[in-house]
Amino acid sequence: MKRYVELLLNWFYENKRDLPWRKATNPYHVWISEVMLQQTRIDKVISYYEKFIEKIPDIKSLSEISDDKLLKLWEGLGYYSRARNLKKAAIKIMNDFHGEFPNNYADILSLPGVGEYTAGAIASVCFQLPEVAIDGNTMRVYCRLCDLDLDISNLQVKKAIANKIRNILPENPGDFNQAIMELGETICLPNGHPKCLECPFCYSCSAHLNQRETLIPRKIISSQKLEEEYTLFLIKYKNKYALHKRKTDLLKNMWEFPNEPGFLTYDEIKEKFKNSTFIKIGITNTHLFSHKKWFMNSYFIEVQDQMNEYVWATIEEIESNYAIPTAFMPFLAYIKTK
Ligand code: SF4
Repeated sequence: MKRYVELLLNWFYENKRDLPWRKATNPYHVWISEVMLQQTRIDKVISYYEKFIEKIPDIKSLSEISDDKLLKLWEGLGYYSRARNLKKAAIKIMNDFHGEFPNNYADILSLPGVGEYTAGAIASVCFQLPEVAIDGNTMRVYCRLCDLDLDISNLQVKKAIANKIRNILPENPGDFNQAIMELGETICLPNGHPKCLECPFCYSCSAHLNQRETLIPRKIISSQKLEEEYTLFLIKYKNKYALHKRKTDLLKNMWEFPNEPGFLTYDEIKEKFKNSTFIKIGITNTHLFSHKKWFMNSYFIEVQDQMNEYVWATIEEIESNYAIPTAFMPFLAYIKTK
């Protein structure tokens, strides 16, 4: 295994990508990047990360930022609870750790929104602690190297792989953790064919030698997504549109166009908006979440009075001040044509 580790590290030092959060091992920077990278591709994260660090340069400013400004910076990245947890964690660091990012695994793991993977990544990269950071990439590479036909979504499997990897961690665990993840992200790819001919393990990987690399890890059929239908009301009064702050757990505190569950008919809309001067069928959109699928119809409605239950904003104000989830973005683009 020592030889495997050497091969991996040499490959990493020659091939690692020049990513903005790799310029220093500042734990604040590594933390923000790791949280953004959860469920989001690297190429998408880079511009968000740079803007975030420019606007919120340190833990103190993160602990003090308003929710609206924070969510606006996160707009389009999805999984907004990540942003809310970042702020909660920053407040905890200010209160419990005198504003200094904690420098041991247990304290890092105690921060809201920080799981074992993120804690291991920060502890090893920023403080050179011998901690593993096990994500899907690491498990896929490990299972292929050893030709193990395992279900990597199983927690016991994850634990067993973490223990094996912990035993082979070199003196520079941060580089090792980044290297194995980098190999998984760029060479030992999850879908389709991994690029075995470009891999440092081309002549030693068991799955590749047995021609089983595309069969490993075992494919698990994911359960069906819950489907939901909504009707959106794009309500215009003069040059302003009605907005509503979400209260439910999903996308909590983000701004949305008012809506109701189910597909309402044109007559039901007319009945509902008796103060309307104009109603037109708008666009439709489908949005996929990790566990849900939304089907959305919309109506463009002009009214003669503002309704008090909503906040009213011009398109320019919506774009600069209100965090709108990606699911509603096509409707924002649509009203810009009106
Ligand atoms: S040889 Fe192929 S399957 Fe094996 S680790 Fe490299 S890319 Fe993955």
